[in-house]
Amino acid sequence: MKQPALTIVVPCYNEEEVLPITIDALDVLLKRMISEELISDDSKLLFVDDGSKDQTWAIIHKEGLRNDNVRGLKLAGNVGHQNALLAGLFTAKETSDCVLSIDADLQDDISVIPQFIEHFNKGCDIVYGVRKKRDCDTFFKRNTAEFFYKFMNKMGVNLVYNHADFRLMSKRALIELEKFEEVNMFLRGIVPLIGYESSSVYYDRKERLAGETKYPLKKMLYFAFDGITSFSVTPIRFVLLTGLISFFVSLLFGVYFLALKFIGNTETGWTSLITSIWLIGGLQLIGIGLIGEYIGKIYKESKKRPKYIVETDSNHLPKPLQLKN
Ligand code: UDP
Ligand code: MG
Repeated sequence: MKQPALTIVVPCYNEEEVLPITIDALDVLLKRMISEELISDDSKLLFVDDGSKDQTWAIIHKEGLRNDNVRGLKLAGNVGHQNALLAGLFTAKETSDCVLSIDADLQDDISVIPQFIEHFNKGCDIVYGVRKKRDCDTFFKRNTAEFFYKFMNKMGVNLVYNHADFRLMSKRALIELEKFEEVNMFLRGIVPLIGYESSSVYYDRKERLAGETKYPLKKMLYFAFDGITSFSVTPIRFVLLTGLISFFVSLLFGVYFLALKFIGNTETGWTSLITSIWLIGGLQLIGIGLIGEYIGKIYKESKKRPKYIVETDSNHLPKPLQLKN
């Protein structure tokens, strides 16, 4: 059997601290897998620089010059983790039978990568890396993440539990992924929709090796909110439901206050009045905000802007020109 050509795609944003270690570790692993004839000798590492402001591109670029296994892609600006990943996946699929994505910080255990290939060889088009436990994450991150998966499932979005973006996809799965034209790509939700044969590889997630997380709380919340509103209209239905409930409750109140008026006892109205003004006002604002969020999504999608723009591909640079940089 011919070994598959694998490309490992690594999106990198301001990762100068950890990147040299990551490149070394992945390079050693890639060479070992090639020598063990698990993958073909044209397998590659593809580092995508997502518009970093530090030395990330310089490091990738230098490595690309001295190491044939390393290819670099420099995006023209910062487009975010998901889009940077897509840039890498779609570029890599041209030259590979399967593509594996992994974060630059080595939180995911690279020693299980050969298992991904075994699953691929058995005929799986998509292999999910799934965390066994999250001991290393903070109490807060662990619990918010758990809540996120449960909440998403309630909202009707099927996510693979405890799987992030450590994943292998076959060339044909990537060809299908490319047909999903939405601008706002929440990969964890979209990949299961492809529907090809899939399986999971289990591993322990470690702490970030160096550098700091690019997902502070604010970004994490945005990411979760984006994930929900890109996939589900349940929140908007929920708003409608609360609207209906409060409408009927206010009818009941109306009857009650009218009854009070007839009895002649009207001075007690102020508290309930002011409470209901705030309550209904709040509900209305939530509703409008939520509808605005969906309209914003439609607005973004209708523009059909490119998800990423490649500035430099180390494969397309003539060698002498590369040295200038
Ligand atoms: N990343 C990226 N663009 C961004 C933010 C992050 O390419 O705008 C990359 C980052 O370099 C890393 C991966 O996405 O390889 C995941 O980020 P991080 O490890 O900071 O997220 P966390 O693991 O803390 O959720
Ligand atoms: Mg990380």
